[in-house]
Amino acid sequence: MTTPVRDLPLLLLGSGSDPASERGVDCPGELPPASDPGLVERARAAKAALGERVFVLGHHYQRDEVIEFADVTGDSFKLAREAAARPEAPYVVFCGVHFMAESADILTADHQRVVLPDLAAGCSMADMATFDQVEECWEVLEDAGIAGDVVPVTYMNSSADIKGFVGRHGGVVCTSSNARRALDWAYAKGSKVLFLPDQHLGRNTAVLEMGLGLDDCVVYSPHRPGGGLGERELRDARMILWRGHCSVHGRFSLDSVDDVRARVPGVNVLVHPECRHEVVTAADRVGSTEYIIKTLEAAPAGSAWAVGTELNLVRRLANAHPDKNVMFLDKTVCYCSTMNRIDLPHLVRSLESLADGRVVNQIRVDEETAHYARLALDQMLALP
Ligand code: SF4
Repeated sequence: MTTPVRDLPLLLLGSGSDPASERGVDCPGELPPASDPGLVERARAAKAALGERVFVLGHHYQRDEVIEFADVTGDSFKLAREAAARPEAPYVVFCGVHFMAESADILTADHQRVVLPDLAAGCSMADMATFDQVEECWEVLEDAGIAGDVVPVTYMNSSADIKGFVGRHGGVVCTSSNARRALDWAYAKGSKVLFLPDQHLGRNTAVLEMGLGLDDCVVYSPHRPGGGLGERELRDARMILWRGHCSVHGRFSLDSVDDVRARVPGVNVLVHPECRHEVVTAADRVGSTEYIIKTLEAAPAGSAWAVGTELNLVRRLANAHPDKNVMFLDKTVCYCSTMNRIDLPHLVRSLESLADGRVVNQIRVDEETAHYARLALDQMLALP
């Protein structure tokens, strides 16, 4: 099993009333105050002292103050591969969330240590599919007599345990860039897919890219007996979607799209496939974070774009393209609260500890889980 932080429920930040909300966070008085005016200098000094021994990865959804110290930025898969391509760096500081650091640990060499600056930086979507729940789901599929026809596919945004489960059952990991290719591969192998944990990416890819009907899809609810599905529904379905979603992208609605079109004539609506089906259907373009970045780079000056993804990234894109009108799709603020847990104080603490020869908040995946998770990740890399 991996480090037990994976099963922590997502709790509100700064609630104060629930001491357990800081479970897994071990900061014995070492965290510098956010008000310390010397934080930037401290981060620079610690990073310079570590030199080539540290490699700092910054996910696109991280704060500006953290991205400033990243050696490379990207989506979760790109970052894990970048870390694996740098075996000379014994320390990898992953500024992202827990499942990303796990994937980096799986893909990096044994001597490399992966650090997550704040262990409470989880992912609400990844937390929606636990190992026990997925094991139970598989038993339901076995009882319905269809498990032999089902190929499990898990989104990168899942715990190492779930990737391990999928690898053990002959499945594959996918990203939002290659979900179509992963599903093509899976349907060549079996007649049904169990798609974990993001129902929206699974549905959007199956229906909009592969021509399946909405009635080919059923939703398995882990909190209901039998997933809330009858044997007939399971037997008739081609796509069994796990009831999980991203709490950030799930907030965009059809109203957000209608509203921005009314306010900004000629606006192009560009969204991530983790958005709900009706939002993706109403948008002009849909694609992964990397696709969103490239689309805005290639857009003509003067064009207007309402972007449906995490706010830190949209703000940076707006700043990077002052000749284009880049705006957030929704009127309400929509940061990823767990991504935002990694801030400059946590980064300073990680870098200074490493410079002192202490590794704090290391993420380790046990060997057996890592072995099977790597099978599913390698299968993704081998996709045509
Ligand atoms: S943006 Fe969504 S999927 Fe990404 S880390 Fe945050 S909650 Fe998870």
